Amino acid sequence: MEFEVYIHVPFCLRRCGYCDFNTYTATDLGGGASRANYANMVIREMALVRDWQRVHGIEEPAASTVFFGGGTPTILPADDLAAMLDAVRSTWGIAPDAEITTEANPDTVNEYYIGKLAEAGFTRISFGMQSAVPHVLRTLDRTHTPANVEAGVAAAAKAGLRSSVDLIYGAPGESLDDWRTSVETAIGLGVNHISAYALTVEPTTKMGRQIKAGILPKPNDDDEAAKYEIADEAFSAAGLSWYEVSNWARPGCESRHNLGYWRNVDWAGLGPGAHSHYNAVAEEGNGDDADHPQSAAPTVPAGGGGDGLSRGGDHGTHGLRGWDIAHPRLWGAAINEGRVPWSGSESITAEENLEEIIMLGLRIREGLDLDRVNRLIRDGREAGTLGPSITALDRTRFEPLVDEGLVTLDGDRVVPTRAGRLLNDTIIERCFAWCGL
Ligand code: SF4
Repeated sequence: MEFEVYIHVPFCLRRCGYCDFNTYTATDLGGGASRANYANMVIREMALVRDWQRVHGIEEPAASTVFFGGGTPTILPADDLAAMLDAVRSTWGIAPDAEITTEANPDTVNEYYIGKLAEAGFTRISFGMQSAVPHVLRTLDRTHTPANVEAGVAAAAKAGLRSSVDLIYGAPGESLDDWRTSVETAIGLGVNHISAYALTVEPTTKMGRQIKAGILPKPNDDDEAAKYEIADEAFSAAGLSWYEVSNWARPGCESRHNLGYWRNVDWAGLGPGAHSHYNAVAEEGNGDDADHPQSAAPTVPAGGGGDGLSRGGDHGTHGLRGWDIAHPRLWGAAINEGRVPWSGSESITAEENLEEIIMLGLRIREGLDLDRVNRLIRDGREAGTLGPSITALDRTRFEPLVDEGLVTLDGDRVVPTRAGRLLNDTIIERCFAWCGL
């Protein structure tokens, strides 16, 4: 089993109008929490999490990937990112061939900064490019210019780091030609990995309010589908193959960190709002406590016994998910009190595990492994963790989807076609219904 580390840096120069991530500007934070001490707080959280793991007999291998996401990790000095990375090294170890990535806002890095990241051991930078068209960047409230992205990618190449860029399609006012320009510009940068996401507009964001007030047009499903097809065709022609619905890479340049999430490995998430996942720990009776953000990491009584935790997925569970307190000030207060700063945790039931495996399998090029799914169903029914209404997912069920051009069958694997990727939710719903979920 692999082990990954995710470090969330919840700060941005200013909030983009469409963004509902757990991120804060200086104005949001007020005087209560500071960026200056952030790396130290994360390093202290690592020590608390490691103690918690030790008490519960969790011994992870050296981290195979480390990912700094945000927010804008590169808003912090490069030395702070290096210090957190060093702390991962001394806490868990980092595998010799590890993938070490930071997300970067093209505005916040230069050659000197990127050189320092390379010295610290980073191997990869993921730039938030979003678009190559100035009016689209303005609609998205992005502060960078297309030239910043090019300079960032060139600096990364000079320092020996691999680059990825993120694009967003479907912004109000973005034409198909605008999108083609962004796709072609991203390819022209020579990066070996591109992510492209459809814009989703949450009603609580500035853009959500502008759309509701009729100031901006609503994103349109057909327009987004056309843009997905443009991207998939152009990326494939340029040698970047899809490996997950929204991700394309040259062979061998897939994001190992993201693949780890989709394959359900163990990961420790550090920083406000970060999620953690452990396969071999089960917990009882500890649900969401977001309104009362005390530490909800499963508690460890003196002596470490009788705490409702077990190894090996007893009690019909398939591990544990936990999530950190979202607000930096409350998160920091929990750490200052010597607590793992989780605001909630939950056991993963056999049914939830099955649902996740089906959903994730139908998002990735490796496809859904029917053998594995049916083994899980059989074992779960025998163990009584899955009810009799859950039935095996027969290969023949998928034949009509093959006829509709939505999936292909590769042995016992179901792989979505381009049309199927666009109708992913429909295929997943059908699968759930077929096996009684
Ligand atoms: S830079 Fe990214 S995380 Fe920060 S506000 Fe903009 S979209 Fe959100």
